[in-house]
Amino acid sequence: MMQTQIELRNLLRSIDHKGYPAYKSLAGAWKFDRYTLVIDHVQGDPFAAPSKVSIHIDGAKAGFPADMIQYKYTRTALADALVRRFGREAEQYSHKAKGSGKSGLLSVSRPGQEVLERSACEIAADTGNLVFRLEVGFPANGRTINAGELEKILFQFLPKCIEQSLFYRNADKKHLAAVKELAQDQQYIRTQLKERALAAFVADGSILPRESGVSDRPMKNAVRFHTPASMETAMELPNAGLIKGMGIPQGVTLIVGGGYHGKSTLLKALERGVYNHIAGDGREYVITDDTAVKIRAEDGRSIKHTDISMFINGLPNGKDTKAFMTEDASGSTSQAANVIEAMEAGARLFLIDEDTSATNFMIRDELMARVVHHDMEPITPFIDRVEELYQTYGISTILVAGSCGSYFYKADHVIQMYQYEPSEITAMAKQEAERFAGYAKDKPGLNQSEPPVFDRRFASDKKAAQNDRIKVKGMGRDAVSIDRDTIELRYVEQLVDSEQTMALGYMVKYARQRLFDGKKDLKAVAGLLQKMVEEKGIGAVCEGRYLPCGLAVPRQQEIFACLNRCRALRI
Ligand code: ADP
Ligand code: MG
Repeated sequence: MMQTQIELRNLLRSIDHKGYPAYKSLAGAWKFDRYTLVIDHVQGDPFAAPSKVSIHIDGAKAGFPADMIQYKYTRTALADALVRRFGREAEQYSHKAKGSGKSGLLSVSRPGQEVLERSACEIAADTGNLVFRLEVGFPANGRTINAGELEKILFQFLPKCIEQSLFYRNADKKHLAAVKELAQDQQYIRTQLKERALAAFVADGSILPRESGVSDRPMKNAVRFHTPASMETAMELPNAGLIKGMGIPQGVTLIVGGGYHGKSTLLKALERGVYNHIAGDGREYVITDDTAVKIRAEDGRSIKHTDISMFINGLPNGKDTKAFMTEDASGSTSQAANVIEAMEAGARLFLIDEDTSATNFMIRDELMARVVHHDMEPITPFIDRVEELYQTYGISTILVAGSCGSYFYKADHVIQMYQYEPSEITAMAKQEAERFAGYAKDKPGLNQSEPPVFDRRFASDKKAAQNDRIKVKGMGRDAVSIDRDTIELRYVEQLVDSEQTMALGYMVKYARQRLFDGKKDLKAVAGLLQKMVEEKGIGAVCEGRYLPCGLAVPRQQEIFACLNRCRALRI
């Protein structure tokens, strides 16, 4: 029999004024009237990371309608809305209970503008059973238990938060209906992208620029997006009805325009369009092929046996570029590896900004080609592969190019940004390009490329496998360290949340300890990780008795990106 809330209260009162470790006796499941409170982990002292608490509610009692739970995209949107709601409630009570250190803290995941699947709130597809996770600072004076303050939290504050946010009968039903409908509309656009062979869609009226470099909220008084007539695409959304916007076809698309006219801002919005955004964000209907990967230069990254021979051959030091290795890549080799690894990760769209690219990777102009003969140049620039990538591998490219006209020859569509407004100038650009003919189209000596080899098998790490004390330490969005091996993710630009980074850390740890065996290749390992998360939730990769912290599910592409940057992996 599970113990009751009355027993919890009695136990709590009995440990008042004792030393802090006596709090450990509270660990376990406690039955409240309409939910079960589980104290998953008790912190060691009031200054340590706060205690982990979860709330478990029967689907029938929580009462959320089946049509919100049935499909993954609405279920994720609902869970996201509950996290935001609970977070607002909990904020009122955080630190209302007093004491030293983290006493009284109520901490809930804080989602940004994107809707992500999180360990903070998981809803079972079949039963609607709901688990909500948060952190609570168990109160103390010095290191002496203050049971009265914890009693306030567990018997007054939390029950109020739970009642207000986790039961449908008390919910803002209109708001939740709107959340569901937006998710359905976004999903509809995603399926339409495939049906209409589009790489991305940007609705008229969208707000693309953000408030500032440090705020992801929409810019106030921004110029709203307006589609050029020739690229107008209409969609009849199931809920919002008819909308119009710019459909960017698959193939090679160039975004050009003068400096400061909004090119990078458009590309950034497309990068984020792999995720759904919340209402009011301005990018609700900016939807990109969700396999899209931003490709950029990344000097200094480590590369592990990646076949970059499609772009780089015959290096002066005789290094093998079919299984290229370095602990400190150059601009061009890093960008080449980023392309190949994204291919392996299943990308069907590359997003590239000239601003963050290695010039010698992107182009080679006529004059340079005449002076430095191609035999002496190891790099086959991206421009010579961009058509092949689409025609042979079905991978589209959307490229921002403010200064390099050579890509006009290769582009299927050219969009010009002028004062934040796009126009389509494909015909004009092509005409000018024909007249100019500065770029030799059939360059002699262009390497015929062979398909890249994706066959990387990393060795099992016996020492790691037996070590159950390996620590995963998050360093914000930008990096995570596993066993003191730091994985730099700053330039993996489509990671949007530190909880995703943390989840990646646990995934790499799990892969190192349990999956890599010298036989399974990288793709198989990444696939297994994703499958585990799909079937059992993100907690599956943590192995512990409780989820160590807030985790958000990353995309398959970022799982690959993280494994590829793990310096500790050995062949
Ligand atoms: P580019 O890449 O063409 O040089 P950016 O995309 O970096 O230009 O945009 C330049 C500036 O204009 C940025 O500060 C950005 O926030 C702002 N901006 C971009 N789009 C809009 C818009 N639609 N309305 C208002 N300001 C915008
Ligand atoms: Mg720019």
